Amino acid sequence: MLAFPGGFGHQGVAGRGGEPAGDWHGGWRRILFPGSFVGEPMRPSAFIVREALRPELAELPGRLCEAGFDVRLVPHLYHLPEESALWGMLAALEGPAVFLLPLHPRPIEALLRRHQAWRPGRVALDLRAWDQPESLVAELRSRMAVPSGHGSVSVLEGAAGLRWYPVVDEERCTHCGSCHQFCLFGVYELDERKRVRIAHPDRCKPGCPACSRICPQGALMFPLYAKDAAIAGAPGQYPKPDAAARKMFYARTGLTCPACGQAGKPGARPGAPVCGECGRPRVAAAGGRDELDALLDGLEHLQEGR
Ligand code: SF4
Ligand code: SF4
Repeated sequence: MLAFPGGFGHQGVAGRGGEPAGDWHGGWRRILFPGSFVGEPMRPSAFIVREALRPELAELPGRLCEAGFDVRLVPHLYHLPEESALWGMLAALEGPAVFLLPLHPRPIEALLRRHQAWRPGRVALDLRAWDQPESLVAELRSRMAVPSGHGSVSVLEGAAGLRWYPVVDEERCTHCGSCHQFCLFGVYELDERKRVRIAHPDRCKPGCPACSRICPQGALMFPLYAKDAAIAGAPGQYPKPDAAARKMFYARTGLTCPACGQAGKPGARPGAPVCGECGRPRVAAAGGRDELDALLDGLEHLQEGR
C-alpha cells in the first residue's frame, strides 16, 4: 500500500517526492506537478467518485497512483451543479483520462460531452462492475499508455447535492423533437438549428423517467433510474416500447398519429375502438366500419389492380 506523505484528507495532496503543491480556485485545487518526461506518454488522470469507493476498492487510488496515474478523487459528477468550476477544469484538461463513476459508461460519456469534457481516447467505466483494484488497474493499463514512475493523488472539492435529470446519447439522438414536445416543464429547448438540448435540467421531476419511454431512438437516459437498466443507460440496451407513454405523448402534444391519421386532443367516444398507437377513439366510417377498414379495403383494390 502506498503511503501519501501529503495526507489524504479533503485538501490532502501527495505529489512525487512527497511535496504537496497547488492552490485553491473556486472550490477545486489546481495541481502543480511536473508533467511527463520528454519522450514519455502524458500521465493519464483517473477521476474517481470518492463516495463510490466501496471497502473492497479502498486501495484503488493508491494502486492507480503506483501504476503511474494522477488520481483525482471527485464528488459524484452527475450531481455536480452546472456552474461548478470543476466542469471548467475537466473541459480544459489535456491528455488522457479515465472516469470511474457508479454509472453505466454511456451516461458517463453523455454527461462529459454535455460539459465539453469528453475527448477521443478518454475512458468511462462503471465502478460498480469492479470489486478488485488489481483487475481494474490491469484493465486501464491495457487501454492507455502510462509513463514510468508514480503518479499523484489529490482530492478535488465541489459542492454536489442530489440531482435528477436526463442525459442524451448523442450517437442515438436524431433531434426529432419529441422529448421537447412531450415535456411539460421546459427541461428541453431547441437551439437555432432546431436541435434539442437540455436547457434546464433541474426542472425535471425527481424520480420520473417519462420522456425516456417516448424517445423513438432510445437516446434518453436517466442514469440513476434503478428499476430499468435500459433507461439507466446500460450498454447496447433500448427502453422497451411503452404503449401508455406513447398515448400520453399524443394526448399531450395533439400531434398527428402515423397509425390512424388523427390529430388533436382525443374526443370522448365511450365504447368506440381506440387506435393502438395514440389511444384516440377511432372515427367510424359509413356503415359502422372504421378508418382502418377503409384503408385496408383501398390497399386490396390497389393490389387487385396490378
Ligand atoms: S426524443 Fe430522442 S431522438 Fe428525439 S430529440 Fe429527444 S432525445 Fe433526440
Ligand atoms: S422526466 Fe418528465 S419532467 Fe423530466 S425531462 Fe422527461 S418529461 Fe420532462
